[in-house]
Amino acid sequence: MLKLFKPLLKNIVIVVIAFAGIAIVFASLFSSPAQTKDITLTELANKINAQEVTHITVEENTVTATFKDNSQGVTKKETESGLSETLKNYGVDPKTLQQIPLEVKDPSGFSYWLGVLLPTLLPVILIGLFFWFTFRQARAGASQAMSFGKSNLKLFSPFKDRVTFADVAGSNEAKQELVEVVDFLKNPKKYIDIGAKIPRGVLLMGVPGTGKTLLARAVAGEAGVPFFHISASEFVEMFVGVGASRTRDAFLTAKKAAPSILFIDEIDAIGRERGAGLGGGHDEREQTLNQILVEMDGFEKEAQVIVLAATNRPDILDPALLRPGRFDRRVTLDLPDINDREAILHIHGKNKPLAKDVDYRKIAVRTPGFSGADLANLMNEGAILAARENKTIIEQIHLYEAIEKVLLGPERKSRTLSEQEKKITAYHEAGHALVAASLKDADPVHKISIISRGQAGGYTLKLPTEDRYLRTRKQFLADLAMTLGGYSAEETIFKDISTGASNDLAVASEIARRMVTRYGMGKFGPITFGKTQELIFLGKEISTERNYSDKIASEIDGEVEHILSSAHKTAREMLRKYKDALDALAQKLIEKETIEKDEFEQLVEQFSIKPAVFSI
Ligand code: ADP
Ligand code: MG
Ligand code: ZN
Repeated sequence: MLKLFKPLLKNIVIVVIAFAGIAIVFASLFSSPAQTKDITLTELANKINAQEVTHITVEENTVTATFKDNSQGVTKKETESGLSETLKNYGVDPKTLQQIPLEVKDPSGFSYWLGVLLPTLLPVILIGLFFWFTFRQARAGASQAMSFGKSNLKLFSPFKDRVTFADVAGSNEAKQELVEVVDFLKNPKKYIDIGAKIPRGVLLMGVPGTGKTLLARAVAGEAGVPFFHISASEFVEMFVGVGASRTRDAFLTAKKAAPSILFIDEIDAIGRERGAGLGGGHDEREQTLNQILVEMDGFEKEAQVIVLAATNRPDILDPALLRPGRFDRRVTLDLPDINDREAILHIHGKNKPLAKDVDYRKIAVRTPGFSGADLANLMNEGAILAARENKTIIEQIHLYEAIEKVLLGPERKSRTLSEQEKKITAYHEAGHALVAASLKDADPVHKISIISRGQAGGYTLKLPTEDRYLRTRKQFLADLAMTLGGYSAEETIFKDISTGASNDLAVASEIARRMVTRYGMGKFGPITFGKTQELIFLGKEISTERNYSDKIASEIDGEVEHILSSAHKTAREMLRKYKDALDALAQKLIEKETIEKDEFEQLVEQFSIKPAVFSI
């Protein structure tokens, strides 16, 4: 609306200005000189008789008399009669009149015609002007549409915000691979002489936040060759064919600048498997993808252009992209392990004032599963928390606090619980923590809190002792019991259940079902059930195709139920066994709202809780 309105407004302004201009022209054309004044015929007659008139001009009915003092007077005569006749009637002596030079002018061509034509022409001119401006704007728009085919390829400037490999912590294999790529471009001869082919495409893969874009920028910073980057989504516009022509343009630009690097970020936006047309508009996407394939094949052998691409969904990429000669080099970026996390924290803490007590290792221990981006965010949140307290340095507690903020969202201290709600929440969280402490395979508890955070009413933070890439059946079972610990505590203490446990139940049910259908951890042994399809567009599971009978389906349900009820039973048993500890812990939580690891471990010791093995 506003956009449409603006050019119109502009046109209106232009027309008004044009009007004003024309009015000024008119005024200067038709207005008489400054000294001219209107006089009556009688006055004119008197002046002639007084011999004050030096010159008379007659133009149609307008009589202009010039006086001795060089001023002028203008008057009108009757249309039908001549001037001499008229003046005679006013008592002018014909002799006196004869002495005055009399000039009879034809109505001046220009002003006459202007006078006649302008009133008719003016509207036409104005309308013409209006259209002209409108068309001019439309033409400008059209030429913009023509430039759609040009890619928004950006040349990375090595001088602005230069990133180098030193700014990327961990990811050593990935860096190694990319160092090689950079070397290819810097010393191509070395490789060509030995008969090695220069790689064409390198695909960076990894979950969001693992530093794919960062690493690509580091390559740019290290390469010493032109580095062009574009986000794949920029290829595709509303108009069909734009993507393909932009692709052509991007590759052309890179080739002209060879040796060079072309970086296509988030390539999954166009590189999705063809034919999987969910979500419409795939024709355009496919054309763009085809164009990329064509361009990559079209590089001459010696063309020193390396295409770098990043994606977090390698599983949905079209196989044609991954064929040798295209993106045949694939570099996986994993979530950072504990050492990498420490290094990443170091990098992001470099320019921040830190207290002496800050220990990155301890933060790294508490942040398994955090990506590089999460850790960068954590350091930033820590700084914000410190600033909020008007501190000039960041302390360890700020960073601890930031972990929870990144994990669970901000604290919601303002949400006040009633006494009863507080008691329920305290027992619920104490239940989780105690079950975790009483089972051997459960992760240790790091913190318990009944301050609500984000969606959670309270939370029990438990973390594995080390980074884990595999999980075992025993761990799952202990996890299940601990997840149902809150529910079981409410049940045991209040003989009632609150809605606060609903998320726990959903999580537990999901784990139990996966154990049975996916991991072969149920009674069926080594078999999976159901073919899971992922929604290509969103990367989510949408449907699980059933490839088993109704009978098996009900048996699966039975097995899931069996696992869950065993976990529930174990949780209840543990809580009954350590009821004193549960009461003490809940009481403490009501008093202090949060309990840290050390304090919790003291309590566990005090009540001599012995971790048991839970199996079914
Ligand atoms: P991706 O493109 O993989 O989604 P980014 O490269 O955009 O992730 O990373 C986001 C931010 O996370 C980076 O700007 C950087 O601050 C931080 N980051 C991620 N990985 C690392 C790392 N290995 N070392 C240092 N910082 C990292
Ligand atoms: Mg990225
Ligand atoms: Zn819970």
